[in-house]
Amino acid sequence: FSTNGMAGWLKKEADIMGTRIVVELYHQDPAVAQQGVQTVLAEMRRIDAAMSPFIDSSELSLVNREAAQQPVKISAELFRLLRRANRVSTLTHGAFDITFASVGYLYDYRRGIRPDDEQRARATTLVNYHQLQLNEVQQTVHFVKSGMRIDLGGIAKGYAVDRCMELLEQLDIHNALVRAGGDSRVSGERWGRPWSIGVRDPRDREGVVAVIPLVDVAVSTSGDYERFFERDGVRYHHIINPRTGDSARELQSATIIGSDATTTDALSTSVFVLGLQDGMKLINRLPGIDAILVDNHGALHYSNDLEPARNLHSGVNGPSP
Ligand code: ADP
Ligand code: MG
Ligand code: MG
Repeated sequence: FSTNGMAGWLKKEADIMGTRIVVELYHQDPAVAQQGVQTVLAEMRRIDAAMSPFIDSSELSLVNREAAQQPVKISAELFRLLRRANRVSTLTHGAFDITFASVGYLYDYRRGIRPDDEQRARATTLVNYHQLQLNEVQQTVHFVKSGMRIDLGGIAKGYAVDRCMELLEQLDIHNALVRAGGDSRVSGERWGRPWSIGVRDPRDREGVVAVIPLVDVAVSTSGDYERFFERDGVRYHHIINPRTGDSARELQSATIIGSDATTTDALSTSVFVLGLQDGMKLINRLPGIDAILVDNHGALHYSNDLEPARNLHSGVNGPSP
């Protein structure tokens, strides 16, 4: 552990959930601070073990194997998250849809593999959250069509971040940052100043296009630069338009700010699919939610409530230390 030269502060990074986890927090009792860090890492591992599609023994994998044959009884936690995912699908008219995986699994971004047009068209008929039935009484999930799959990659990291922040609050830790890849949430302050997060330049690994000061909020970014390959000048990346089964291509990145990371995570993926016009329209009618979008030409767009802060952000070259 590094102490950053200030007693009571701890920072730790780890690779869990297929991404980089960062936890940075303060407690005046160093033992409690240590416990906070360990609690976050353990919670991330617990959620990964339950919700990863890459772990055969995960509850999610079980659902994908069996839910087309018969309704599968699942844990209260997974049930709640599936219900929440379906609510975001309703809100976004299906731009967010965890059944995207019915076609999404045909892509392998590391190996540069994608379905041909016919495979893609066939698999896309399986993508539809209405075909994912949740039975509240039985706490079961059922796939209406065989071949369907679900994947929580667009919401589970945000959910994990929220869970970790709750656990830290219970440990009496009120100044913290928890990040899982592109999903972050902060509480309190960092060394007496607001936390801040840089919005990455989608086309420059080192560049930052905006810096946002944060007080007790969550921030999520979805970008087309996280996992992708290029073929014939076309970028194939991990955010899928459920209508086409192909990568969504209206934006380079979508950053959403809100009060909890489950919401901002799901909405960043949603807005990335919806694109500039429809995405911004949605964000501007949701109270307490803001957005910074980078369009296809690299231009920045702010939601209405952030517009006054625009000048503050532009021209800043990096996040404060
Ligand atoms: P990150 O993985 O960097 O956090 P996102 O939060 O945008 O980025 O999540 C992208 C992931 O969301 C994809 O890897 C995939 O698992 C999932 N996903 C892709 N398209 C959709 C979609 N239309 N609806 C819901 N989830 C999606
Ligand atoms: Mg997301
Ligand atoms: Mg995410």
